Amino acid sequence: MFESLSQRIRAAVDKLRGRGRITEADLKATLREIRMSLLEADVNFEVAKNFVNKVQEKTLGQAVLESLTPAEQILSVVYEELVEMLGGEARQPLLKNEGNLWFMVGLQGSGKTTTSGKLAHFYKSKGRRPLLVAADTQRPAAREQLRILGEKIGVPVLEVADGERPETTRARLQQHLTFDYRDLVIVDTAGRLQIDQALMDELARLKQVLGPSETLLVVDSMTGQEALNVSKAFDERIGVTGLILTKLDGDARGGAALSARYVTGKPIYFAGVSEKIEGLEPFYPDRLAQRILG
Ligand code: GDP
Repeated sequence: MFESLSQRIRAAVDKLRGRGRITEADLKATLREIRMSLLEADVNFEVAKNFVNKVQEKTLGQAVLESLTPAEQILSVVYEELVEMLGGEARQPLLKNEGNLWFMVGLQGSGKTTTSGKLAHFYKSKGRRPLLVAADTQRPAAREQLRILGEKIGVPVLEVADGERPETTRARLQQHLTFDYRDLVIVDTAGRLQIDQALMDELARLKQVLGPSETLLVVDSMTGQEALNVSKAFDERIGVTGLILTKLDGDARGGAALSARYVTGKPIYFAGVSEKIEGLEPFYPDRLAQRILG
């Protein structure tokens, strides 16, 4: 992901390197190329426009063009703005000493169950005591998938029954926690292929009853701008506190991942980078920006 975008941005800036003096027109031509490469990488239109406007404002304002190394300075402004677009400082989900309940939501196939397992594994390796909850009340196969993952990483899995009511799930969870102390409960909820009203109602009810400390939306970065519409719909209906982008190891153009923070207004906490249980990394805007600019 990001290879082609990365090559094009660098090529655009490299063209400036050969020039003795850079005019405002040269700068604008470079910015147009950067804007085109963002759009072709499937970056959201508003995000691309805003990005280029900010780079232009900063470079025109800072006597960059009169400096001895204008291309380097422009590149450094592009870097700053990329980091900003990706959310600035790296953020992590809220993790208290105890009483953490993370509610995982997302479409079926987004990587929600795999990511729940990855999170449990990640925090277990940091000394936490996670519990997984398989909360799909309609698909036994989804619960089984989480049970198998839990066995593999040595994390217990509490499974709901078919059609179980949220109040019953809450009571069973509380009961479990009285005999088996756990400081991080990760609830893998039902996913569907598309957003449907019944699913949203069910999720909203379960969320209300369980009262999570974080609601994490799992977004497949291979699915392009559609992923962001889905994100907005989940946020409006359920309320989301942060994002996890999956499949960043894929060969999609990457623009959806780059626009996710800006379009949803939510911090990106983690990125999924392989199918393996270890394939989850905290999301660092600065590292991704460095990778893109090479
Ligand atoms: P769910 O329906 O949302 O629970 O999705 P799953 O967890 O079953 O994942 C769907 C598919 O995506 C599975 O084949 C996973 O192995 C795969 N997957 C999940 N996350 C990643 C990732 O970060 N990278 C890659 N390459 N595959 C992933």
